Amino acid sequence: MTDSPAPAVESIPFIVELLRESYDAGRLRTIDSRQGQLRQLQRMLIEQEEALLAAMAADLAKPPMEAYAAEIGLVLSEIKHALKNLDAWCAPERVKVQISFKPGSAEIVPEPLGVVLIIAPWNYPTQLLLAPLVGALAAGNTAVLKPSEVAPATAAAMAKLIPQYLDERLVRVVTGGVEETTALLAEKFDHIFYTGNGTVGRIVMTAAAKNLTAVTLELGGKSPAIVAADADIDVTARRLAWGKFLNAGQTCVAPDYVLVDATVEDKLMGALLRAVHDFYGDDPKSSTDYGRIVNERHWDRLTALLDAGGYDSTVCGGHGDRATKFLPPTVLAGVKADAAVMHEEIFGPILPVLAVDDIDEAIRFVNDRDKPLALYVFSSSDDTVDRVIERTSAGGVCVNHAVLQVGVGELPFGGVGASGMGSYHGKAGFDTFSHRKSVLRKPTKPDPSILYPPYKSWKYRLVRRFM
Ligand code: NAD
Repeated sequence: MTDSPAPAVESIPFIVELLRESYDAGRLRTIDSRQGQLRQLQRMLIEQEEALLAAMAADLAKPPMEAYAAEIGLVLSEIKHALKNLDAWCAPERVKVQISFKPGSAEIVPEPLGVVLIIAPWNYPTQLLLAPLVGALAAGNTAVLKPSEVAPATAAAMAKLIPQYLDERLVRVVTGGVEETTALLAEKFDHIFYTGNGTVGRIVMTAAAKNLTAVTLELGGKSPAIVAADADIDVTARRLAWGKFLNAGQTCVAPDYVLVDATVEDKLMGALLRAVHDFYGDDPKSSTDYGRIVNERHWDRLTALLDAGGYDSTVCGGHGDRATKFLPPTVLAGVKADAAVMHEEIFGPILPVLAVDDIDEAIRFVNDRDKPLALYVFSSSDDTVDRVIERTSAGGVCVNHAVLQVGVGELPFGGVGASGMGSYHGKAGFDTFSHRKSVLRKPTKPDPSILYPPYKSWKYRLVRRFM
């Protein structure tokens, strides 16, 4: 598939204006109209599955199983869930009023925000562009979609397919890179939903501040996996290897590094080695189930992390092949806390393993660093698991598995602190793109004079009594 031309930067203000006119005209005011667009998006994903799988294969050598489960299928589940629950989500929520406000009734009425901007990264280029769109459309917003230029085949597919299925007055795709995103950020939106790295997250938030536009920032960071001495090591190793080497490690919630109880370190290393072998065979390069690094820049960055040392040995993997952007599943043993690989989010198929004396040391290690997007704990003891959950902070936690928390429709997905702000998926996605408007309804009769001047002392006494 060829790169589709980005709309000229000069046309961006007109695109946003058109979406605002459609919003103001109430084109997505009814539940029916929102469901109509969601069904069209559903049709697109079903009818264009092959085209989308091919685009993701071109960008990341994504195996169809991974591209379906973590991208197309995940968005389809989001759509199904939204279609099923939209009536309930849109219904005003009655709340109690205190006696002093009676007679009267109060409710929270969800209303759309207006015109929203969704900026997506390259690693899950279908899911991370379209799953936020499900929430935005369900809540009744018009949207500009900005796919990542780093996954050009998928960006081109979106630019071609979305106008064929969705109403162009409601959803527009703007392809391109920094120049186009900068031009978009100069416009006034009613919400900006950004997924990507924290450096650009700051640029987005600064631009949004000029218009007092609220933002959702879905960022990354180093997500730890804690392995206790009583964990089922074989299962733990398989789940860690799966979560880490899925999409060649280019997953925001991939276990970034492992903190293992020193007493089971060797056992875990052996089990990781077996798991990698079972998954990808003797030669992962020839496995069709293993992806590629997105571009040479990232391949160089990852290779430099390996070259910088700070670890005792390579249990498996190591250097790859720049020409094909292949980097093997790599497990590092005896990693020092100050190794280069521990400085920044790895975002590639390198798994550093660090030994700790006990769970408390692991908890301290995690708490000494930025709050992660995900935290994994492997243990057969509920007490250990609960201790880790209570004493650490993370966007989300998965116990005895990796990555799967992202797929649970009604679990909000988002970060905390340096890993982001705000969340989406299921009802959380609808809420992110809605304003919960407070409405108090009062009858005109009776009309007691208690609140009105002149403020007699009996009124003051009465107010004090009821508040
Ligand atoms: P990226 O390079 O594709 O950038 C994301 C978007 O930002 C793109 O659309 C790009 O055009 C735009 N952009 C880039 N530079 C810009 C600039 N200077 N000004 C304005 N816009 C700009 O993706 P990335 O940042 O490399 O993505 C990887 C990061 O995203 C990792 O940190 C990962 O953990 C994080 N991530 C988070 C989630 C999540 O859901 N929390 C999901 C995936 C990735």
